Amino acid sequence: MFPERRMRRSRSRNIQPLLREVTLQKNDLVAPLFVDENISAALPIDAMPGQFRYPLSGIAAVAEDLYRRGINAVLLFGIPKEKDPEATSAYDPEGVVQQAVLRIKAQVPRLVVITDVCACEYTSHGHCGIVGETRSGTDLLNDPSLALMNRIATSHAASGADIVAPSCMLDGVVASVRSALDAKGYEEVLIMSYSTKFSSSFYGPFREAADSGFSFGDRSTYQIDPGNSREAFLESQLDAAEGADILMVKPAGFYLDVLAEVATLGIPVAAYQVSGEYSMIRGAAERGWIDGKAAVLESLTCIKRAGADLIITYFAGEVAGWLDEEQ
Ligand SMILES: [Zn+2]
Repeated sequence: MFPERRMRRSRSRNIQPLLREVTLQKNDLVAPLFVDENISAALPIDAMPGQFRYPLSGIAAVAEDLYRRGINAVLLFGIPKEKDPEATSAYDPEGVVQQAVLRIKAQVPRLVVITDVCACEYTSHGHCGIVGETRSGTDLLNDPSLALMNRIATSHAASGADIVAPSCMLDGVVASVRSALDAKGYEEVLIMSYSTKFSSSFYGPFREAADSGFSFGDRSTYQIDPGNSREAFLESQLDAAEGADILMVKPAGFYLDVLAEVATLGIPVAAYQVSGEYSMIRGAAERGWIDGKAAVLESLTCIKRAGADLIITYFAGEVAGWLDEEQ
């Protein structure tokens, strides 16, 4: 017998747009930006074709251009002049991110500025906080690093950041940063926690972009094993309980099952389409192996479909232009 339900009936050219479940919007997107204190002109990032490090003098114009295209939020990463084992330049009121926030907020006050709160771009050893001896050798020390994150986050808030985003995967960092912010009168500043961050090989190109490679070991003792979904869910659940305003799953595309699960927690969720995801699509498109625009839009739509309220993507500016063309 012929099937009663003909699925193709709903896929005709006229009907299909009416029944679309998920539509990507510019408001879903956050653009990551690298600001480098050591340069005076934009510097291309080899491992991420089309992406740049920007000098402080140019960062506000770049942010304004994104805002004009309809991107409403940026996520800032800083590359400082000085690095030391204690990451002192990370909480310097005159530091690179602090100055960048001031400049952007002065020029584009309505653009939401999110700052990455971590130490790995500022430590000489490249790890995400204070390093010392543990029972299993030299490693990132959890509790001594919390005070450092508090200092970094409050200094970003003081410069005008709307959202601070601890990315270090330290236990207790959300509660710690929340109380530090509140104690200084920054109750209105949100926390977007990198709550479920996997120890991923897809971060490779970012290390060139942010100059944050490490001098020993790796980050597998504080980031999640890619094989573990129960642990991944628990990490976000704990950060939700500590008061995170926005959770995050990172990377995005290979972790959609985890994203869908974290989205059930009832708190907004961001997904970070990371540098390796960007460079794979870009690289294949440059060689003519895939249709770049179609692949980018598909990848982002699927991330939204899995449950992301926000998508952090290096394609943000470009996608804004494409979405305008379609309307
Ligand atoms: Zn880090």
